[in-house]
Amino acid sequence: MRLSVIVPCYNEETCLPRLRAALLHVLPPLTDEFEIILIDDGSTDGTLEMLRAMSRSDPRFRYLSLSRNFGKEAAMLAGLRHAAGDLVAILDADLQHPPELLGDMVALIDKGYDQVVAKRTRTGDGHVRTAASRAYYRMMNRLVDVELTDGVGDFRLLSRRAVDALLSLEERNRFSKGLFSWIGFDTAVVDYENVARTDGASKWSLRSLLNYGIDGILSFNHQPLRLAVYLGALCTAAAFGYAMWLVISALLHGTTAPGYVTIMCGIIGFGGMQLLLVGVLGEYLGRIYHETKHRPHFLLKETSHPAGPEAPCVD
Ligand code: UDP
Ligand code: MG
Repeated sequence: MRLSVIVPCYNEETCLPRLRAALLHVLPPLTDEFEIILIDDGSTDGTLEMLRAMSRSDPRFRYLSLSRNFGKEAAMLAGLRHAAGDLVAILDADLQHPPELLGDMVALIDKGYDQVVAKRTRTGDGHVRTAASRAYYRMMNRLVDVELTDGVGDFRLLSRRAVDALLSLEERNRFSKGLFSWIGFDTAVVDYENVARTDGASKWSLRSLLNYGIDGILSFNHQPLRLAVYLGALCTAAAFGYAMWLVISALLHGTTAPGYVTIMCGIIGFGGMQLLLVGVLGEYLGRIYHETKHRPHFLLKETSHPAGPEAPCVD
């Protein structure tokens, strides 16, 4: 069994030594044939130099360096494209995804599963964040066609079949949580206790989390467009009813001049709603625009291995 471990790294110089030690502790008992592919996602600290040194001293550590910061999704895709293993594991560099779990995960794959996902508890997360993410997942699962679970992230082990399925999805806007679920196959879950980051800081700000959340909803369904249709229909019906009432009352009683409040409410309410719905349309249009450009997901600057036909420079 050949095992590839993919680790996206963005400014992780403080975490790498510990990650290296943990992987060298966990992997050799599992298999003789493993490779660790570290993806430098345009780091600005000493990450790339450390990756160079790691792969010089131990060729089982390979690295890819992207030409700039393309984001974790692109870094994972780069790793998946370059992984040669029959099994491919994805984990974070900050040891928040404990490599010790890989043993159990491999055992489950041997039982015939194609994906083994690790599900974390929310120990140590703030109450607000926990409540917000619970609410988000509840809403997501109502809206989108793929099943998403709170606490399940990118930490997982995939069979070659599952990796090939993922690689066959060519969309530019990659929302991995959804893609992993979309490809299907038998999936097993292992639970683990949430771990705090060992070093460095999380790359997620509130704003990036919010954007990620919106991406998740819009990448997997067109329900918001349907919502626009329903809202539009409702408002039109209400406006028509109100107009009828105005006309009839004007015919019966003549017009009355005061109407400022009504007009203002109408302008503000309908104006706001129209802007919102145009925004929804714009989001989808933007996505289509982005997809039609067919730009590569990432560009490679440097790798630890010569670029052969299986390792193209541009994706
Ligand atoms: N990461 C990356 N590119 C980015 C942001 C993050 O490759 O633009 C990597 C990062 O180095 C880490 C993993 O993605 O290995 C998870 O990032 P982080 O720990 O910041 O996220 P969190 O654990 O807070 O969700
Ligand atoms: Mg982390």
